[in-house]
Amino acid sequence: MSKVHNFSAGPCILPTEAIEESINGLRDFKGSGIPVVSISHRSPQWEETMHDAEILIKELFHINDEYGIMFLQGGASMQFTMLAYNLLPVDGRAAYINTGTWSKNAIKEAKIFGNIDVIASSEDKNFSYIPKQYEVPADASYLHYTTNNTIEGTQFQTEPVSHATLVADMSSDIFSRPIDVNKYGLIYAGAQKNMGPAGCTLVIVKKDILGKSGRTIPSMLDYQLMLSKESMFNTPPVFGIYLSYLTLKWLKENGGVEAIYVKNEEKAQLLYSEIDSNPLFKGTAAVEDRSRMNVTFVMENTELEDPFLKYAEENGISGIPGHRSVGGFRASVYNALPRESVEALVHCMKEFATKNA
Ligand code: PMP
Repeated sequence: MSKVHNFSAGPCILPTEAIEESINGLRDFKGSGIPVVSISHRSPQWEETMHDAEILIKELFHINDEYGIMFLQGGASMQFTMLAYNLLPVDGRAAYINTGTWSKNAIKEAKIFGNIDVIASSEDKNFSYIPKQYEVPADASYLHYTTNNTIEGTQFQTEPVSHATLVADMSSDIFSRPIDVNKYGLIYAGAQKNMGPAGCTLVIVKKDILGKSGRTIPSMLDYQLMLSKESMFNTPPVFGIYLSYLTLKWLKENGGVEAIYVKNEEKAQLLYSEIDSNPLFKGTAAVEDRSRMNVTFVMENTELEDPFLKYAEENGISGIPGHRSVGGFRASVYNALPRESVEALVHCMKEFATKNA
């Protein structure tokens, strides 16, 4: 099969080295003679992997012991419910910034648990920018925001200023750049972008914010219980955690989030500069708010979109149609996507422009 450049938004490209190592683990996990998906999750080999994965995450983000790490199930979407259940007191309030489809879903679920103040929104302009003006109400228990808007192609370049506990959905840009975890109460991410395969969700929580909601929380949704059981209250999603661990190991071996951040900036700038200079294409997000992970664009002449897509596919470019709700194009340039793939897409855009001048 010829080379495929995989720009899929998620599930997405993962490092070949991690995939290869996971195949070895599927054959024989740590010399046990048993596949990783067939060994007991109470075995020492598995417990060591869980432990190592946690250590690795702490190292990559320089996280101290005030924080707990959990590997949960149900995707980021389950966190929309779980975080409100755990952090929003009965009769309490929380503030949300609405920057797109995923923020809206988070708001919808949180409203089941209490009073939600949407303190800023970019819905007036199709979520094409990040709102900058907002005030967090004095009685808000937390402020929730989506760091990177996977569908709309916008990204917070710095975290919002908030007196209330900061809660972030980092599903589509976690591990893509350094962050100061100390600024956050809770961070969550569905794994299926920079972290690993779908099926496992990462939660990083400051332990002292828990246990204050005054609610009786079902076991599977209770952060304190999950933390006390080291994410093994029930059978964890073993393969998801395993391949996430291998992906993060690859990240560490390649210089960690500090090094990947530089590469990610270069890749994104390469693509945005083609979009800005090629007369056929146009970016959809406000320039200062552009995502470094999901590059969204359209064509000046929409009739050329299908022919361009076909041309790109013939040249090995995969996964660039925009989300079904917005159309156009979206090239996702996650950690594991090599610069060479961005160069291939840029080359394609240039050639298509020459042919259609
Ligand atoms: N938040 C963001 C920012 C996302 O990109 C996604 C999925 N693409 C979700 C939440 C939902 O994740 P999941 O499918 O794991 O529930």
